[in-house]
This record gives sequence, C-alpha cells and structure tokens, in this order.
Amino acid sequence: MFTKDSVMYCIRQLIIILFIFQIALPNLAHKVSRNHSKRAARTTVDCEDNEWDQMLWDAFDDAISAAEYAKDQLGYLSSFLGLCEELKRGRNSGNTKQKMILMTFESIFGQVLYDRKSRNADEQNRRGRERVAEISGFVTGIGQLYDGPITSSLHIFCHEDFLQYSFTDNDTHDWYTDTRPAANGGGRVLDATRVSCSFSNPIPVAYSYSSAVVTHHMAVFCPNQFQTWEGYDRMSVMHDTRDWYGEAMHLDTIAKRYILHAVLHELSHSDHIFGVPGLEDVPCGEGNRNPAYGWVCITHLASNNPESAILNADSFATFVMAMYLSNADWHTGWAMPFNDNDEMGDC
Ligand SMILES: [Zn+2]
Repeated sequence: MFTKDSVMYCIRQLIIILFIFQIALPNLAHKVSRNHSKRAARTTVDCEDNEWDQMLWDAFDDAISAAEYAKDQLGYLSSFLGLCEELKRGRNSGNTKQKMILMTFESIFGQVLYDRKSRNADEQNRRGRERVAEISGFVTGIGQLYDGPITSSLHIFCHEDFLQYSFTDNDTHDWYTDTRPAANGGGRVLDATRVSCSFSNPIPVAYSYSSAVVTHHMAVFCPNQFQTWEGYDRMSVMHDTRDWYGEAMHLDTIAKRYILHAVLHELSHSDHIFGVPGLEDVPCGEGNRNPAYGWVCITHLASNNPESAILNADSFATFVMAMYLSNADWHTGWAMPFNDNDEMGDC
C-alpha cells in the first residue's frame, strides 16, 4: 500500500540516485583517469585557483590523446617509408594522407625521404627513418604520462611563491633559490632575471626543469598567460573540427592560444618522461641565438640542421599539435583543406 510517506521516501531516494549519477559519477570518472598509477599519484598541480588547476589537468589528458594520435600518424609514416625503401619507389607513390604526414614531418624535422638517384640516398633515408622512430619514442613517452614504466614525479605550478631572493650578480642578474625541499625537487638557485614569471623581461609563457638528484620535473605556467588560454576551448574539443582553414589559421596562432602547446613543450623538457635527456630550446640558427620558437625558426632549423630539429622542444610540440588537428594539412604552417578519403597506399 502506498502512503504519502512512502511516496516521499521514494522521491527522496530517486533524487539521491540522480544526484549520484549526474554529479558524482563524472567527477569519479575524471579522478580514476588520472589516479590509476603511481605516476599519477605523484603528479601535483598547484595553481591556487581551481579553474586553472582543472585547465592543466584537462590539458594533460589532451596531451595524452594528442600523443597517442601522433603515434598512429607516425606509424603510417614509418610503414610508408619502409615500403618506399623495400619497393624502391618515391614519395609520389603515397596517398594523400601519407604525403601530408610526410610533408609535415619534413617541414618540422627536415627531409627524411630522398630520391634514390640523389647522393647517399640509402644512408640519408636510413637516418630519416631513425629520426621518425626517435620522435615516435618521444610521443610514446607523453602518451604514457600516467601509466608508463617511469616512476618520476611531475610538479606543476602557476605561481612562484617557492622562490626566495638570494643574491645579485654583476648588478644585473638576480638569483633566487627554489625553497622547496630537495626531496621534492627544490634547492636549485635560478637566474630569475633570465627566466621567471615575476622578474624577467619578456615574461615567458612557462618554464621548467628536471632535478638530476631525484626524478622530479617541475614546470611553472606563468599567470599572465591564463587570460589568453581561458579564452579558448580544450584542444580535444577542437580536434575533430574541419573549420581551421576557414579562418586562415596558422600553427603559430594555435601555439599562442592553446595551453596544450605550452604543456607539450614543457613536458618535452623533462629528463624523466622520455626516459632519455629531455628536449632543449635549440638556438634558431647561425646569427640568431634565440631559442627556436615558432614556425620561421622551426622550419629554418629543419632545413639547416635536422639533427638539432629533433632535439628542439617547440618543434616537437608543434608537430604533435599538427598531427592532432589532422582534419587539416599543416605542412606550410597554414591550415589547408585535406581530403582523408583515400585508401592507404602501398608506396
Ligand atoms: Zn622551452
């Protein structure tokens, strides 16, 4: 028999169940995705702002997705190059997708497929395939951010409260100490005039360093950048869009607007994530000792010094972004229409 009380009881239970499904479950799902391994438990984000914390956690998830995507694309490239070698055919035998991945890789990391008639073609092509394999190893490292075999810790900040003034060198350089305990990766003395969010000019987007003593990597994302990043969606939302080329979009614009680019760049500096020394900010080239940030320097480095290009953090971040946004062809830096309907070719 239904009484008024039992009906009220049922309604109350239903409300509780709905609450659990609508609110608790999505939160639970997110926590599980980042806490399923030792590494995740040892990743900290300290932004003193819940929205910025969340933005960074989301960007890590996007970095993992982007890296997994880039790894698949590099798999296509590597089998294409292998078949070219085996069948002794050239770059024109590939389908649209293979050619697009090949051209984007070559714009960013230098030529990897040489005409068989050119000098030293076999040796050049062999080294080209090795460069593809090296980048593929790096994207594997990012893809395993939470569940890889490396048990290092990652500490992310959006402030510099842990920095304390130590001394001034030659009246121009102010050195600060990272006051965190050495066991947490602290203790280092930094030239804050050269790079910091508070004391350097210009202010960087972010910076990071790995501790050699204990396996910690720490990165600071500068607070003044968040206003820009907050204005744009998560990259996973933009991943499938086909509208990039409608806006005459350039990879440099994407790098400035989206936090994912900065996250990929900083993670690539870690000595611990790749299991080999992290990537560097390689100088742009002869006569320009500035770090190779942005398309002009990246492509200059690729055509003049491919072996340095594969060690450059911004080249890596730019390539992963281009591969993730695979509904456009980015090999000129600009988004161009790309038709992915071709069957995979056989070189
Ligand atoms: Zn850098």
